[in-house]
Parts: sequence; structure tokens; C-alpha cells
Amino acid sequence: MKRPLTEFELIKRYFTYPAPGALLGVGDDAALVRVARGMELAVSTDMLVCGRHFFADAEPAQLGHKALAVNLSDMAAMGATPRWVTLSLALPKADASWLRAFAGGFMRLARKHRVDLIGGDTTRGPLNICVQIMGEVPAGRALRRDGARAGDEIWVSGHLGDAALALAAFGKRVSLGRQELAAVARRLHGPLPRIALGEALRKTAHSAIDISDGLLADLGHICERSGVAADIEFERLPVSAVMRRHLQQSAARAALLAGGDDYELCFTAAPARHSAILGIARSLGLKLTCIGEMRRAARNAPQVAVRSRDGRLIHVNHGGFDHFG
Ligand code: ADP
Ligand code: MG
Repeated sequence: MKRPLTEFELIKRYFTYPAPGALLGVGDDAALVRVARGMELAVSTDMLVCGRHFFADAEPAQLGHKALAVNLSDMAAMGATPRWVTLSLALPKADASWLRAFAGGFMRLARKHRVDLIGGDTTRGPLNICVQIMGEVPAGRALRRDGARAGDEIWVSGHLGDAALALAAFGKRVSLGRQELAAVARRLHGPLPRIALGEALRKTAHSAIDISDGLLADLGHICERSGVAADIEFERLPVSAVMRRHLQQSAARAALLAGGDDYELCFTAAPARHSAILGIARSLGLKLTCIGEMRRAARNAPQVAVRSRDGRLIHVNHGGFDHFG
């Protein structure tokens, strides 16, 4: 009979890789890294909990990808270049084929972005995945939530709402064709962090956030931190062909406005930078869409107002995803 893996064998076999961008990686009491001169360290953590963020039977390779992708997305939203990650895992058991697939999904994305896995922690317990990511950004150049100004244009990358549309379909709140579901499920399971966009926006955007909790909620965070309000136009929101076909269903509209998990970037910039931003879109081969404007906050107007093309206010009662709401 095969002997179960010990904790140390498990770490050695599945989570120990060369870390060329670090001074010291996995295997000591702490890793050592050096931040380049003139750069600031950006640090962020995201936890994925079984039953909350993913289903217990989730594909381990997709889970490995997603656990890193959501953290990379935070670096993108800061305009930071991701450099190092740590991975803390609670595992119900040491299942070799699960671990191989999970580490494979995680490391494929890590290599793609040249991020080094430099440490972590491994313990037995209900499946829980916690990643801490560190990146570098030139001093004073980080894209923050508090930099938006009245008059800024509001932009988003890619298409919005597909990931939440997939979740709505799994929950039978919308019905999609089989190929449609496969297309939007790819967005849910395999988000692509917009690292190159974040880096390109360092000198152009006033503020940025990644859309993890839904456009309204996340744009609301920019408003809150910047002390301004936002006006967006519903018809301008960039949607996929699948989303467009189902927009008459209210669950699809909710996914578009308030669905999380897309990991696109929402950012604001001066109108004078409009054509520069379209140039960034061309050079990255990534769709960037101007969806509205920031304005001064007013007591009698919603913080994020959604209007139809004729200027009428659209009432929206779902403000995004709140774990304790
Ligand atoms: P300590 O007793 O100091 O907490 P551990 O025995 O937990 O050290 O970990 C040994 C080494 O393995 C450390 O360098 C730690 O960062 C690393 N490590 C533990 N778990 C993981 C993991 N899941 N992924 C990457 N590195 C890990
Ligand atoms: Mg430990």
C-alpha cells in the first residue's frame, strides 16, 4: 500500500520551484526578496473558500488558475507588476492527483506572468486557498481608488457580466444554450488578469479597481474613496454576444451591472486622454470602452447612477455582492 504523503514531501513535490526573481524561495523560515530602487511594494491577499467561492467538486486545475488570477487582478488594478506569491492551503487530505492538477493550474499562470512562488503554509482542514501576492510599481505611480476627479471619463476593459451570467445559469436563474453556457463558464473559471493594461495605465489613469464584486459596487468604491459620483449609460456597457442575446432577462441585466467575478478593470481618466486610451486598447488588442463620466457628489443623486441613452435614470436595487449583506 502506498504510504500517505507527509506535509514536507507534499510541499517539496508540488510547491517547490525555482524562484529566479527572489533571493530565497521555499524551504527556509521566510523568503527573501529585493524591491528595485525607485519602486514601491504592492501587497494584497485573497482567500478562496470552498462552498463560498467555488464548488467542492471544482476542477483543481481551474481552481489553481483562479486562486492566482484573482490575486494577479489586484496587482493589475494597482498598476503593479506582480513578482512574488505565497500560497497557504488547508486541505482535507493529501490527494496526489488533485494536488498535481491544482499546482499545474497555479504554476502555468505564474510562469506566464513570471511570478515566483516563494512560500506558504500547508495544513489539514476544510479546503481553503489563501494567496498573498506582492508586486512592484514605480514610486508614486500606483493606480489607486482615491484618485478619480469630477469630469473624468469612466472606462472598463473587455466584456462585463459573463462570469455572473454563468453562475446565474448554474443556479437556473437564466437559461442558456449549451455552447453559450460553455462560453460564459470559461470566463467564470478562467479569468484573465489585466496585468498589461494596469501597467499601461500608470501614467494615464487617475483611479482604477478590478471588478470582482460587480460594476456598481466596485465603481461605488472608487466614488466613495474619491469623494465623487458616477454616471454610466446602460447602452454603452460592453457585452458579449451571449449576454446581448439574453439582456431581456432581468437576471442577465443583474449579472451585467452587479455580477462579480469578471476581473476586468474599471478606471477613470481625464477626457483629454481619450485617444491615448484607445491607443492602449489597440496596442494590447483589448477592448476598452468609455461607459460614462464622474461628477461631483450630490446628496439627492445616487452615487452610481445608471441612465438609459435618453438620460432617464434606471432604478437598480442590487448593489453587487456583499458577503454579509
Ligand atoms: P514553518 O514551520 O516555518 O511555518 P513550514 O514547515 O510551514 O515552515 O514550511 C516550510 C517551507 O515551505 C517554508 O518555506 C514555507 O514557506 C513553504 N511552504 C509551505 N507550504 C507551502 C505551499 N503550499 N506553497 C509554497 N510554499 C509552501
Ligand atoms: Mg508553516
